[in-house]
Amino acid sequence: MPLPIHMAGLSDLAGQLRGKGFAAADLEARCRSGVGWTPTNAQITCFDGIAPSPYGSTGDMLLRPDPKRSFTAPMPAGPDLRLTLGHVTARDGSPWMACLSQHLSAALARFEAASGLSVMASFEHEFILPDHAGDSGFSLAGFHRAQGALEDMLWALHGAGLRPDSLLREYGPGQFEVTLPPQPALRAADEAIALREIIRAVARARGETASFTPCPDPETVGNGVHIHLSFWDAEGHPATFDPEGPCELSRIAGQAAAGIVAHMPAICALTAPSVPSYTRLQPHRWSASFANLAVQDREAGLRICPTSSDAPDKRARQFNYEYRAADAAASPWLALSALVHAAAAGVEAGLPCPEPTEGDLSEMSPEALAELGIRPLPRSLPEALDLLETAPEVAGWYPEGFIALYLDHKRFEAGEVADLPEAEILKRYAAAY
Ligand code: GLU
Ligand code: MG
Repeated sequence: MPLPIHMAGLSDLAGQLRGKGFAAADLEARCRSGVGWTPTNAQITCFDGIAPSPYGSTGDMLLRPDPKRSFTAPMPAGPDLRLTLGHVTARDGSPWMACLSQHLSAALARFEAASGLSVMASFEHEFILPDHAGDSGFSLAGFHRAQGALEDMLWALHGAGLRPDSLLREYGPGQFEVTLPPQPALRAADEAIALREIIRAVARARGETASFTPCPDPETVGNGVHIHLSFWDAEGHPATFDPEGPCELSRIAGQAAAGIVAHMPAICALTAPSVPSYTRLQPHRWSASFANLAVQDREAGLRICPTSSDAPDKRARQFNYEYRAADAAASPWLALSALVHAAAAGVEAGLPCPEPTEGDLSEMSPEALAELGIRPLPRSLPEALDLLETAPEVAGWYPEGFIALYLDHKRFEAGEVADLPEAEILKRYAAAY
């Protein structure tokens, strides 16, 4: 009889889940002892190259799986997928500068210290099932043709403790979407990591493929990851909504929005970190292409979402905004850490809530945009990385050396495909994500 295997894993700089396996019966012991980890693993790119690493062949760390962060998903064929997430430390327990889970925890602690509030997040993922292309967006036929795959996915997600709010046949060819409900931010990011793996694993088990690539084809819409944020006080009361506030945002939510909008061009390198991310982040693709706040506009970088009820208490609990310039090439831990740090920076500086924009910003002249203080998002990965490099404030949010390591990683990745034709680049990313 086969012996069940469990994997201790992490989500890394390439947005990939990596880890090590052991007999599932040893999980408890491994949670106590940790699992050996190599620091240069942080520089393995999504194409399996190794970017320059200050660690070279040396160094030993510990990946420390946390039993509270376990997911076991049943599969329609073959073994269950068993995964426990954790953080990485040096062998003596001291923090490691490239541990993305710790980066998110640090960002959340900073936000809480600045605002007295905690962050809830929810991740909305789009992905492609190429075997279920054809049929029209949102059509019953398109939904029904893929229903076997979707039901296997829902069953696997439920088995792992994830309760998607909705599953739908999105607008792009073979595009589907799954939305997770709001959770405390670290849990929300863990679920986003698990969700991608479970959906890809179910597709594999069915002899199909699923890809979360940020953009499969320049002629079609991209796959976004929209990250919804709301803020809550220590007694569990919602603290995002204020009917008297600008755009109905509370003071803290307005300041946090200002921080996110102010840092958006620089943090794109962390939230949309691939070559096809910038095929997606163009005007008229319903993604995001400017650093702006808008009410219910699907082209906004930060969009205030509608609520299903106008009753004040329900509206207050549902009120949230979504950051749209993210995709699945980014680790959910890292992307959310960047958003929460940017939000905390806005609160700490007491920034005023941004003026919401109206209309199609891509139709406006650069002068008119400058007058409104609206900046475009980067238009390519190299441009995004240059913006991150020239944002010392963002580097200061992370441990010494982390952003330099990240830039080396991502520039190496961009170089791995720089000489390829666009179609081949998009194909390689589709396979990687
Ligand atoms: N596919 C769009 C994106 O790349 C989002 C469409 C929508 O759900 O509003 O973000
Ligand atoms: Mg969508």
